[in-house]
Amino acid sequence: MYMDLRERNTASIAQRVVFPHDMVWKTDLPMNIKFIFWTLLLGRTLTRVRLVNTGADIDAVCPLCECIQESISHLFLHCSLVLQLWSELLASQQVMLLKLYSVDSVQEWLLAWPSGAGNALTAKVWRYLPYAE
Ligand SMILES: [Zn+2]
Repeated sequence: MYMDLRERNTASIAQRVVFPHDMVWKTDLPMNIKFIFWTLLLGRTLTRVRLVNTGADIDAVCPLCECIQESISHLFLHCSLVLQLWSELLASQQVMLLKLYSVDSVQEWLLAWPSGAGNALTAKVWRYLPYAE
């Protein structure tokens, strides 16, 4: 029984996603941007859905597209207006743009982001592009 429980625990640990703490706090982004990203990764950003769930008497529908409820992933990844911005930012990176449609969270998006390449400025811009929202 001990071995069975130990195997289950080991499998459970292996399935956990490593939380991208360093992707927020070990950057040279301004502290207010780090804080916003931290709340995004924790799922604590005050979107309309979250405000409604805490009792606010507001409409949860996204005011940008007026199509779907304003969740974190909708507001920062999948809203039609946000997708236009991502499309412009990733115009030369179609693979990343396609990947955007397959992620469900900002955390997944950051984890999927490839490391920068090219000259120092290009690498720095590329590294910070997912924070550009
Ligand atoms: Zn929207």
